[in-house]
Amino acid sequence: MGKKPHLSESQLSLFRERFGNKKIFAQALMPVRGPAGFRKLDYEFAKAIDPREIIDKCVENGFNAFGLVVKDTDGALLSDTKVGWNPTGRDLVKEFEELCQEHDLIYILSITNMNDAYRGWKTTNGYKENGTVSIHIKDKRKHDAGDPAVHKEGEMRVDLPEGRTIDEMRKEIPFLTGDIDEKEGASRGARGKGYIPLTAFHCPRSSHIDYMIEIVRELVNNYQVDGIFADYIRYDGRHKDLCGCERCREAFARQHPGKKMLKSPEWYDFKEDTIATYGRKFNDAIKEADPQVVTGWFNLPGPKLFTRKRIAQDYSKLGATMDAVVPMLYPYLAGTARDGWRWRWLANIVHWYFKRSMRKRIHEYGDIPVLAITNSVECNAEEMLISCKDYDYGLGISLFKYFGTTEAQWLAARKYAALLDQQEIGDPALGDEQVKRILVDVYKKYPPKNKHLLKWKPESK
Ligand SMILES: [Zn+2]
Repeated sequence: MGKKPHLSESQLSLFRERFGNKKIFAQALMPVRGPAGFRKLDYEFAKAIDPREIIDKCVENGFNAFGLVVKDTDGALLSDTKVGWNPTGRDLVKEFEELCQEHDLIYILSITNMNDAYRGWKTTNGYKENGTVSIHIKDKRKHDAGDPAVHKEGEMRVDLPEGRTIDEMRKEIPFLTGDIDEKEGASRGARGKGYIPLTAFHCPRSSHIDYMIEIVRELVNNYQVDGIFADYIRYDGRHKDLCGCERCREAFARQHPGKKMLKSPEWYDFKEDTIATYGRKFNDAIKEADPQVVTGWFNLPGPKLFTRKRIAQDYSKLGATMDAVVPMLYPYLAGTARDGWRWRWLANIVHWYFKRSMRKRIHEYGDIPVLAITNSVECNAEEMLISCKDYDYGLGISLFKYFGTTEAQWLAARKYAALLDQQEIGDPALGDEQVKRILVDVYKKYPPKNKHLLKWKPESK
């Protein structure tokens, strides 16, 4: 394996100017996803959370930045909104804003863009008519050409509270199906248990864009934040045959006369350009209101076959539209030692792949800050710290998510933060020896499960 990439001085300077010379150590909250991993959709949970307790815990454990997912893939907004839908009735953006100011934490909002289940249901009359949802081009096993891209949600599941029927639950979550996942599996896609909601990917040339831009403006105008980052700024990665709506067909025919959808390189250029155009709009909406707010986009890494043909994220085109990029590097979501050797082995391969992919492709992002995010849930303390150090390219690291991080991981994070706090932006990441020592300490209090599968065993000195 070649040398790990390291950001240049100009890639580091924006963060240094804006946030000071300390490395970033961020924790993120997805309030609608329930108390553990990513697998629930639960508005009652979001209504009941205690922001002060959350921020206190982040501060106590050495985090200096906090990310709030203000709009998740379900489509609910957790702000005071005139434009969007907020089923919780809470203005969590404001509550966290005040606490972040009080504790001098960098405050970043993350907002889901093309994926919006509620909006899909709302604008298509229960999905029956085409509205802003992307349209499939080809007949496949599970959909026909012309169908809107509405599918069963992969991650989130809904529990029925005692005494509530599914019909009652649908009044709160109108995009909920009566289908249920009864069993929890170890594979990433099988961990959710409960009723299955639908998910909808919208066309990036439709009026969904105007809706999103209005929301972005509302957020940047109404709240004091340090950054607003765009998630799901892409097509649905599970399908290659999007989007074949009339708008896209016409625009493609006009821009590339005689070229074929799905078959020509021009089609994929067209999709990448469409996404980059939206990135530019997202950035401009924020900068017009407040040029100090840092903009960024979440990148789903992978081979070009995936990033170009499925999600249409061209690193360079999108990279040129915003201040920063956040690669989402979650190898140990693919598997963890806690579930046995096969899962750890699989995740180790994914980790190796991500390191290689970043080494080969990081230059494609252009001359912008690269701050990776990795997972602190559904993995163990060692897996979390390996990701923290290996994906720190000079700016630090972001973790998610708050709920579901174990006590062993909080302790590991606190010790990691103490070392990171001694570093400056641009310093190389912490080394194996430092991480190993942290873990040996953590294991004294929290003996790990399946310790024979770990890189550094509890007894090693
Ligand atoms: Zn379209």
